[in-house]
Amino acid sequence: MAVTDHVDLNGFMEGVKKRNPHQPEFVQAVQEVAEDIFEFIQDKEEYHAQQILRRIAEPDRVVSFRVCWEDDNGNIRVQRGWRVQNNNAIGPYKGGIRFHPSVNESVLKFLAFEQTFKNALTGLPMGGGKGGANFNPKGKSVREIMRFCQSFMTELYRHIGADVDVPAGDIGVGAREIGFMFGQYKRITNHFTGVLTGKGLEWGGSLIRTEATGYGAVYFLENMLATKGEGVAGKTAVISGSGNVATHAAEKIVQLGGKVLTLSDSGGFIHDPDGIDQEKIDWVKTHKTHRRGRIEEYVEAFPRATFHPGKTPWGVPCDVALPCATQNELLGEDAKTLIANGCKAVSEGANMPTDLDGVHVFKHHKILYAPGKASNAGGVAVSGLEMSQNSERRSWKEEELQQMLKDIMKGIHDSCIRYGDQGDGYIDYVKGANIAGFKKVADAMLAFGVV
Ligand code: GLU
Repeated sequence: MAVTDHVDLNGFMEGVKKRNPHQPEFVQAVQEVAEDIFEFIQDKEEYHAQQILRRIAEPDRVVSFRVCWEDDNGNIRVQRGWRVQNNNAIGPYKGGIRFHPSVNESVLKFLAFEQTFKNALTGLPMGGGKGGANFNPKGKSVREIMRFCQSFMTELYRHIGADVDVPAGDIGVGAREIGFMFGQYKRITNHFTGVLTGKGLEWGGSLIRTEATGYGAVYFLENMLATKGEGVAGKTAVISGSGNVATHAAEKIVQLGGKVLTLSDSGGFIHDPDGIDQEKIDWVKTHKTHRRGRIEEYVEAFPRATFHPGKTPWGVPCDVALPCATQNELLGEDAKTLIANGCKAVSEGANMPTDLDGVHVFKHHKILYAPGKASNAGGVAVSGLEMSQNSERRSWKEEELQQMLKDIMKGIHDSCIRYGDQGDGYIDYVKGANIAGFKKVADAMLAFGVV
C-alpha cells in the first residue's frame, strides 16, 4: 500500500520554503492559499494521496532566457526574460507579461500561481502562466521599446501558441507592446492566430478588454456591498495606482455615483477632496499613459489637490479602498488604519497588493475583503472572451461583452460565497476564492492521473 505523506500546514510550508529559497513573493502566495486549502482537504483523502497542492505549487516549467537589444546610443543591453507555465489542467496557460525592474523569478512564479486560481474562477477554460522581464520601460524611446519587444518575442515565440500558452499585458505592457510582440510573432511564424490577448481592435482585439480589470473590480465591490444591502453610490473611495486598472476602477466608481479621493504612482499619492471626476480621470489617462508623466503633476492641473511624496494613500479616510498598483503595497498597519477610519470594503485590482499581515487584519475584523484573484479577474476573463472571438473569427458587440463581464464577476462572487460563507453573516472571500479555484483545477488534475 502506498504511504501517504500527511504533513501539516507548517510542514508543507517548510518544504515550499526549502525548495524555493530567496523567493519570498512566491512563498507568500502559496502560504495564503495553503492556509485555506489544508482546512478544506482535511477529510478529502484523494487530494492528499495525489499530492495535488504540492503539484499545483510546482510550476509545470519555468523558461528563462537572455534578451539582448540595442539602445538608441548604440549600447548593447542585456535583460533576463521568463515565462512561467504554472498549470494547464483546465486550458492553455494564460496570463500577462510584466516589464518592470522588480521582475524576477519569485515575482513571476507568484503571479503564475495566483493566475491559475484566478483563471479557474472565471469559469473559462484557461490555465495559469505569467511572464516578463526585468526591463524598465520608463524613459525609453518607442523605438527602444519596440526593439526590446521584438527581441523578447524572438525567444518567447517557441514556447507559446493559441492552444499552448496565450500571454497578454500586465505592468509595463499595454496595447503598444502587445502590438510589437504580435508583429514579431507573426513575422517569425507567419501565423495570424490568437496567440496574445489585449490586441488592438483592428487586428483581433476585443472591445472592453482595456476597461475590464478596473470595471470588474468595481462590479465585484458592488456584489460585496449588495450582501449588506448597500451600493457604491454616495461612497468615498481611495484608490492606489494610476495605470490602466486604477483609472478604469475610478471611472466605474464615478459612473456608479461614488467619489474617488486618491490615485498614486511610485512617487507618492494625490488627494483630491473635491473628487476625481471623469474629466480629471481623462487627464490622468492622457498624462500617465500617453505622456508618461508623474502623478504629482496632477496638483498643477487641479490645485485644490495635494501631493504626498513617498506615501501610499491608506491613511485617507474612506468607505471603500481599491489597491490597484502592485504587490505588497498595503501592509498590516495600513489595514488597521483603513479599518480605524471606517473603511467597510476592500476590492483588490492589483495582484496580491495586501501582504499576509494585512490579509489577516481584514479577516480578523470581518470586513468585506476581496483578494485580487477574485476581484481583478475581469481582465483575464475578457482575455478569455477575446480568445473565443479569435477562434470564431468574429467580434462581439460591446453590450454583449459588458453583460458577460458583469455575469462573470457575479459568478465569481457566487463561487466565493459558496465556499467562503462562514454562516454568521461573514463571507471569507479569500477562503471562498482559494477553495473554488483550487477545486476546479484539482479535480481536473485527478482525472489526468500522476503527470
Ligand atoms: N495581467 C492580467 C492579470 O493579472 C491579465 C492577464 C491576461 O489577460 O491574460 O490577470
